[in-house]
Amino acid sequence: MEDSANCNLCANCIKSCPNDAIQVRLRKPTSELWFITKPKIEHSYQAMAIMGIVLIQNITMLEVWTDVLVWIEATTGVASYALIFTVAFVIAVTVPVALLTLASRIAAAGNLEDTAMNFARFGYALIPLDVAAHLAHNLFHLLAEGGSVYTAVVALFGVEARGVNPALLSTGTIQVLQFALLGLGVAGSSYTARRIAHRRYRTSARRRATLIPYAAIIALLGAMNVWMFLLPMAHRM
Ligand code: SF4
Repeated sequence: MEDSANCNLCANCIKSCPNDAIQVRLRKPTSELWFITKPKIEHSYQAMAIMGIVLIQNITMLEVWTDVLVWIEATTGVASYALIFTVAFVIAVTVPVALLTLASRIAAAGNLEDTAMNFARFGYALIPLDVAAHLAHNLFHLLAEGGSVYTAVVALFGVEARGVNPALLSTGTIQVLQFALLGLGVAGSSYTARRIAHRRYRTSARRRATLIPYAAIIALLGAMNVWMFLLPMAHRM
């Protein structure tokens, strides 16, 4: 098996191997991202597209998004939400892909592999930050709106719960937890990029020339997420 991207842990291979040669074991977190022998460009593209989707998901739930819609309509006359969202979605997905392409081009000059191979190899390194940003976003819904689960459940039985605070934790505490998750994501992505570079390149000069541009985009995308979590979110209840 070259990677475990398509394994859904059905365990059929374990049950059907007559020699008991296949096992499920714990591995270091992120190791499945830097042990890949044949990285696929489509996987790396998807990792960056998902970062864009996480960003646009955050942007459209910020209170400031309403002001942006008003400004777009006043400036361009476009009031179609479907059109505005489609354009914003395309931009949000394109920006991370373009950043990885730029970083890969810079890295290619220092590690003697072409831009496409750098793109395929190092897109996997952004997956920990993708996951962390997505979890951090939904942590807000869980902890700031989670109390409404009680309201909804008792409503099923005809009971109207009044005065229930939907917030399980204060906004400040939720933000601290979100930043902690993002910090883990940045650390995981940086560690993954480092392991990929160390497995692939023998000299420290090549590793350094490769890691600097990728560390820069990990830091930039991490900072963009931090900035978004600092802005007030609109509740969806
Ligand atoms: S057969 Fe084995 S490798 Fe394939 S999906 Fe199931 S557990 Fe994963």
